[in-house]
Amino acid sequence: LSQWNELLLNSAGEGIYGVDREGNCTFINPAALDMLGFDKAEILGARPHTIFHHHFKGTSHYPAEECPIFLTLHDGITRKLEDTFIRKNRETFPVQLTVTPMHEDVKLVGAVIVFQDIAQRKAMEQELTRLAVTDPLTGVANRRHFLEAVGNELERTLRYGQSTTLLMVDIDHFKRVNDTHGHAIGDAVLRHFAELTRLRLRRVDHFGRLGGEEFAILLPDTNQAAALRFAENFRLHVADTPFQGDQGTIAFTISVGLAEFEPGDAEPDSVLARADEALYRAKAGGRNRVETAHPA
Ligand code: GH3
Ligand code: MG
Ligand code: MG
Repeated sequence: LSQWNELLLNSAGEGIYGVDREGNCTFINPAALDMLGFDKAEILGARPHTIFHHHFKGTSHYPAEECPIFLTLHDGITRKLEDTFIRKNRETFPVQLTVTPMHEDVKLVGAVIVFQDIAQRKAMEQELTRLAVTDPLTGVANRRHFLEAVGNELERTLRYGQSTTLLMVDIDHFKRVNDTHGHAIGDAVLRHFAELTRLRLRRVDHFGRLGGEEFAILLPDTNQAAALRFAENFRLHVADTPFQGDQGTIAFTISVGLAEFEPGDAEPDSVLARADEALYRAKAGGRNRVETAHPA
């Protein structure tokens, strides 16, 4: 390497290394060694694939034939992708990789790999996604995300001729909880309700906060009769599981309106409207009860 190239490599913030046609390391810069935790002598002349690229993110073996670096050595095509490298201490970390073929005259003689540690970026992306889909008070799906799930399930249910039932759940006289105990305790009751509900649900079920003290549950592969049994048990369970506060317990009840998806439901809105109407009857009928939607 020329002095100029050496200088560039040494000052680069990105990890950079080169391999020959056999995949043996021809050079590696300090940033790369820093991220990987190896000494230069451990990598130079050896096979990077064997040293820090031999497993996928999980623990499964990463065969050289599938490795983008070997693919580029074979076909001369530049590749950009996300991958996983392994540090000397065996920690894995996600990397953004660019693999560029190196030619001498017209002959492919190797490849240059440029990489960045993207662990932080990935964690930030995950956190942003989480924030975008969850309700900050209770940690359950927010309205938008829940309605998206309803839309997906509606499509799936109608395509495969299955049953899915939606439950609209509203806490009874919640205003009294706030008026009697204050808004902060009201918040804690909402969190308590969300947690006890979450624990009743299967992995495939969806649970969201539609707003205020109104929640909704989506039970895939569940017809109206089965959903009604679930809702009755759930209603009794809520009434039996008061919030445990410093000042004593706060019991509360829920009203539930449920509606099964029907072939005519083009939009989640129509199912929601039927469940809402059933919920209205549950409230009007005296609260702490479950009502079922009339067929559309
Ligand atoms: P109903 O049985 O008819 O549902 O009576 P309700 O009092 O539960 O219903 P209403 O819609 O009259 O009042 C809902 C109350 O929920 C009023 C509002 O202050 C409270 N609320 C909405 N969102 C929150 C929240 O995030 N935290 C707290 N603490 N209270 C909330
Ligand atoms: Mg209410
Ligand atoms: Mg309400």
